Amino acid sequence: MKLKYSNKINKIRTVALSLVFAGMIIMYIGLLFKEYEWVMVTFMFLGLIAIILSTVIYFWIGMLSTRAVQVICPECGKNTKMLGRVDACMFCKQPLTMDPNLEGEEFDEKYNSKKYQKEEEKNEQMND
Ligand SMILES: [Zn+2]
Repeated sequence: MKLKYSNKINKIRTVALSLVFAGMIIMYIGLLFKEYEWVMVTFMFLGLIAIILSTVIYFWIGMLSTRAVQVICPECGKNTKMLGRVDACMFCKQPLTMDPNLEGEEFDEKYNSKKYQKEEEKNEQMND
């Protein structure tokens, strides 16, 4: 089973890293427009924002990591971190779940959404 899904912490880290590079590239482009001061300043500013944003995201990952649950992946046996009800292994992308009700179910991002959880609760109440 091939999944497009990947581990959340890894995904956020990738975004942060690409923002750093994007910021540097934007600033470099700004340097090419030295003759036009306002263009250079605009690019520098945008680049700076991207880099600041990535710093914020890195900080955020740090916060998330402390809340992430460490599990041993049943597939590759490595120690991985997961966020939310469903997540993927950092190493082999094996879908993992914290909820025994979802075990064996097809992997779906929707299990993490608040809306879905509420609907599920409603269904359970109706069954009672
Ligand atoms: Zn794994």
